[in-house]
Amino acid sequence: MKTIELKTGRPYNIFIEHGIIKDTGKYVRQVSSALRAVIVSDSNVAPIYSPAVKASLEENGFETSLFVFEAGEERKRLSTIEKMYDHFFEHNITRTDIIVALGGGVTGDMAGFAAASYLRGIDFVQIPTTLLSQVDSSVGGKTGVDLPSGKNLVGAFWQPRVVLIDPDTLSTLPGHFFNDGMGEVIKYGCIKSRALFERLEKENAGDIIDDIIYESVCIKRDVVEHDERDTGDRAILNFGHTFGHALEKLHNYSGITHGEAVALGALILTRITEEKGITEAGTSRRILALLEKYNMPTAADFSLSEIVAATRGDKKSSGKGLNFIFLRELGTCFINKIPTDKLSEFFCV
Ligand code: MG
Repeated sequence: MKTIELKTGRPYNIFIEHGIIKDTGKYVRQVSSALRAVIVSDSNVAPIYSPAVKASLEENGFETSLFVFEAGEERKRLSTIEKMYDHFFEHNITRTDIIVALGGGVTGDMAGFAAASYLRGIDFVQIPTTLLSQVDSSVGGKTGVDLPSGKNLVGAFWQPRVVLIDPDTLSTLPGHFFNDGMGEVIKYGCIKSRALFERLEKENAGDIIDDIIYESVCIKRDVVEHDERDTGDRAILNFGHTFGHALEKLHNYSGITHGEAVALGALILTRITEEKGITEAGTSRRILALLEKYNMPTAADFSLSEIVAATRGDKKSSGKGLNFIFLRELGTCFINKIPTDKLSEFFCV
């Protein structure tokens, strides 16, 4: 078992262990004296894992109930949160009870937001079952939902009490879900760890997945501990994301996953910064080779000026500019703010 402690306002542990899902109750009991636990899951994950989670919680003295919503990003809406609140109320959930988020990023973000807001905040735990949620969204306390006008526009910072990562759950995932997580893993290598990047080059990610999860979560922990509320350096986690979000938007959020879009965004951006002499020569070629190795898209269906135009209204914009994360070389990055009216000039000339 690997353990990572995250020292946020209220510290918590992230445990990585094969089969840990079956011991959910034991770990939740270590951090909670709740009477009741609500398992929140979607229609894909609930049939596979909720019986084991429920049994383990009950063995450890929790009264359980299960809230299941239909799987899919389009359910990540306030209307689903409202149904969750109704469920909590009907099952007499009080401030001392606990929510168990069982599933991928959509489940964790929504269950976390419901926990952050119901009765002005109750405890929750994360059991992420996709690579993306294990290496990224379950760690760091960002919760929320989409609005019709954009993704993740409503939310709260709310840290879980514990995160249980079971790498065995990845074996039940279709391939493109694996890529989705790999996009963020490649990002971690680019911004903070040349060693991780080089392992992804030399070895097969599937063979070293435990190490990859561990290394990625450690990098995210280091960044989040320094900037829990995302007012400064946490922005480096957005490497590849400004163009990535633009690509997702241009694709109408279908046909390309978040991680694939981020990885492609990182490649397009790094080609430009390399040309400008900001990034060490040869870096974008290595990113390209890695994307090819892991069967991720390597060319956009849109022109650079279309992509740059689609960055308008990005959630990460602040004041009159957009923060871009540039690589100096693999493993080293910095934040560079570009005024909105200079974007085309910077990228397209
Ligand atoms: Mg991301």
